[in-house]
Amino acid sequence: MPRTIALIVAAGRGHRVGGALPKQYQSIGARSVLRCTLEQFSGHPAIEATQVVIAASDRVLYDAQTAGLVLRPAVVGGPTRQRSVLNGLEALVDDPPAIVVIHDAVRPLVSPALITRAIDAVACRLVDGAVACLPVTDTLKRIEGERIAGTVNRQGLWRAQTPQAFRFEPLLAAHRAAAALGDSEDTALTDDVTVAERAGLEIAMVEGDERNFKITTADDLERARREAAPRPETRIGTGFDVHAFGPGDSVTLAGVTIPHARGLVGHSDADVALHALTDALLGAIAAGDIGLHFPPSDPQWRGVASERFLRHAVGLVAREGGRIVNVDLTLICEQPRIGPYREQMRARIAAILGITPSRIGIKATTTEKLGFTGRNEGIAVQAVASVEMLVSREAP
Ligand code: MG
Repeated sequence: MPRTIALIVAAGRGHRVGGALPKQYQSIGARSVLRCTLEQFSGHPAIEATQVVIAASDRVLYDAQTAGLVLRPAVVGGPTRQRSVLNGLEALVDDPPAIVVIHDAVRPLVSPALITRAIDAVACRLVDGAVACLPVTDTLKRIEGERIAGTVNRQGLWRAQTPQAFRFEPLLAAHRAAAALGDSEDTALTDDVTVAERAGLEIAMVEGDERNFKITTADDLERARREAAPRPETRIGTGFDVHAFGPGDSVTLAGVTIPHARGLVGHSDADVALHALTDALLGAIAAGDIGLHFPPSDPQWRGVASERFLRHAVGLVAREGGRIVNVDLTLICEQPRIGPYREQMRARIAAILGITPSRIGIKATTTEKLGFTGRNEGIAVQAVASVEMLVSREAP
């Protein structure tokens, strides 16, 4: 893959959004618009480094909002977008990349796939650049004063977005040539493809993305907030455990002590049901297994009530922002009979999980006298848990 650097243009001063801060520094959810954008590029596997162009007056805001991100030192933009991009390109001249991918800071919902499309088009095809484009779907009118003066044929017309990817050297040359013409309003070029076209570079189009819209108005900012809002996602975990019968006069299952001719062998209280359930919850949040959190070799867990393990898993789920939706257990044994204790078990587990018994399933089955459970050598339990979590849309 050719060396690729992202150039993010964040020096703009749009005033249509309103609010005390420039739009790229306003928040969508927990992060600013700029930070959302930067994370998409700095975390992209094809991008080696990210260069940002900012307004001189935004330095303090910028430093605060990019804490923890690995970025090249920001450079200050110029009076026009064209000049800002040129400043960004000049900052890369000492160790020039093969490809530079330019993007507006105020398109925070750019997807990794779109970034890849733009870079790949330049890396894999014989073109100097590639621009993300979308078809024009509305009918276009030419207006003079307040009257319709005509209809523009939209055939062959596309809307240009960023990212726009270019071979670095020809783009730099094009920008330098454009800058030599001066920065007056009528020569200010609104995107980099326009600069590249003027220089006669060959530019391909790649399919853009409607979600990758530019935040221009307060409505756009609201839309970005809605679209970036975390969505609920259901995670599933399973657990399985076995304990052998041994000496004793009772077994503890799902936190309920049941008189029985034998006990269960185990380091803790051998509550095979709560162990399986603990693993199911840990599985739902991909947090390892019960042995990882409570090593059987550690003497401090000897004889301890397994409720403690389950409470630990419940705490981890909460810490991850998860909500336990329901759990379901299947107890596999010939003895003891589970039915008489089912409601007690549901109530016990409900109390530990902090959810209603209607979300706790307890089922019992035998293995028709087959296998170790059939021979009454021990008890096996299967458990499944579902956990709802809020996940940001950009998360992979
Ligand atoms: Mg166990």
